[in-house]
Amino acid sequence: MQRLSSYVQGAWVEGSGTPVEIHDPTNEEPIAACDSTGIDFAAVVEHARALGSPGLRALSFPARGQLLKRLSTALHGRREELIEVARRNGGSTRGDAKFDIDGATSTLAAYAYFARDLGERAHLVDGGPMPLGRTPRFSGQHVWVPRTGVAVHINAFNFPSWGMLEKMACALLAGVAVIEKPGTSTALLAWEVARTIVESEVLPEGSFQFLCGGVGDLLEHLGAQDCLAFTGSAATGAKLKGNANLVRSNARVNIEADSLNAAVLAPDVDDESETYGLFLANVALDMTQKTGQKCTAVRRILVPAERVEAVTADLVAELGRVRVGDPGERETRMGPLSSRAQFEDVRAGIGRLAEVAGIACGGTAPLRERGWFVAPTLLVARDREAEILHDEEVFGPVATILPYSGSAGEAVELVSRGGGGLVVSVYSNDADWTESVVRGLAPWHGRIWIGSDRTAGQSLPPGIVLPGMVHGGPGRAGGGEELGALRGLEFYMQRTALQGYLGLLESRFGPPAPEAAAAGSGSE
Ligand code: NAP
Repeated sequence: MQRLSSYVQGAWVEGSGTPVEIHDPTNEEPIAACDSTGIDFAAVVEHARALGSPGLRALSFPARGQLLKRLSTALHGRREELIEVARRNGGSTRGDAKFDIDGATSTLAAYAYFARDLGERAHLVDGGPMPLGRTPRFSGQHVWVPRTGVAVHINAFNFPSWGMLEKMACALLAGVAVIEKPGTSTALLAWEVARTIVESEVLPEGSFQFLCGGVGDLLEHLGAQDCLAFTGSAATGAKLKGNANLVRSNARVNIEADSLNAAVLAPDVDDESETYGLFLANVALDMTQKTGQKCTAVRRILVPAERVEAVTADLVAELGRVRVGDPGERETRMGPLSSRAQFEDVRAGIGRLAEVAGIACGGTAPLRERGWFVAPTLLVARDREAEILHDEEVFGPVATILPYSGSAGEAVELVSRGGGGLVVSVYSNDADWTESVVRGLAPWHGRIWIGSDRTAGQSLPPGIVLPGMVHGGPGRAGGGEELGALRGLEFYMQRTALQGYLGLLESRFGPPAPEAAAAGSGSE
């Protein structure tokens, strides 16, 4: 069994405690173990602050972008090996593994692209100069400068590759060193990615450290210039947000948590339309991709009451075509859940949902004697008001149909019971209905995906998080925001209002070059 180490202070270090075992979810065999006991977390933080972040800040934005490009190339060079590790460690099919691994390399490449026109200056400009005195001689200008601390990233198990790299892309481009902690159950893939990063020798010393195991007292060493970006369950997010040291020091905290994402079918969408085909395909994909272990997966499906029976039958047929099995077999479309804990949680969750909803397909029965397999499970709510349907995220291939009247107002009311989501998808060719729903749902969501005949055949599915679009959501979804092109850098930077002589502001703190303004950044 492979013993995984942490990369801290420029060296790979094994923990001195009892390691946690990591398993192959297809056959339940132990494949690796990790532990971070004994690591001096204060020294890890200091290493990043003293060496890593200054090393990055010494480079321009485009030069840091080039580091990301080279990291992307290094990871892509090991693509096939990493896909194989994702199969063994996460039970990922080839398609699911590519989603995670290619997602990471393409996000790095996108950030290299966003950086290309940012110029040689050490800051980013926010808006233009604003006259403040009797004449423009005394003016104001907002700028963004890198914070001088370290970024701690605590990642969820479900995207060991993309989840780590999408955060790293923004922090490193902003000029802030990172300390990465992967979810333990899929830490073997994260470790292989970390090994590739270290062996590539692309990053300045101290700008990348990797903790395989618990974080010990790491958070107690963070201060005013540091950032914690967390992805995981709402419960862990709330615990970390309440950490007394983080509260006291006002270290920045970004939480990407879970959400009860909804898909809403409008009453105008008829069975023959392309929009209906898109709805069926997207819902089935969202439920089964990564075995439903996706923060953006659909959990609630709103369907006009009179069409529930027909839509349920169509979705059951669609899900029936998803072949579940060994992720190493080419025909398999859905593999096992990633860990025993996940398997037990998902089966228990289906059991609780079944108290208020009928099971249309799937259920709690294990599919194989060995391995953590469950079937795609579609339920139909008997009581669409039941709190559990809007509150409990069953993190597997599981979703529930909720009948509604078809009115935009009722759709907004039901969906917003989720308390805030990452993404909601709406399917309609009626512009008035769509506008009402979008206006009502926007305050509750980080992203709204709109499907219609106009985009059928052209759109990417709603579950995909794109580097140019913001990711995150209010309330239950954590209240955080990531990515969104250069908007994603703001978390790692300080916006400062400069007030003084216009000539100085323009010559020293103005925009780097005219073409940078056309780069489409939220920071410019
Ligand atoms: P989790 O149990 O909350 O764990 C998330 C991370 O936090 C893991 O690295 C975990 O480490 C660590 N952790 C747990 N307790 C901690 C503590 N007291 N102090 C410091 N770190 C701690 O979530 P998960 O099961 O890995 O991930 C699934 C959840 O993540 C789902 O609810 C999903 O919706 C959500 N998610 C959200 C997004 C998003 O972008 N919004 C993306 C992906 C996933 P260990 O693994 O070592 O326990």
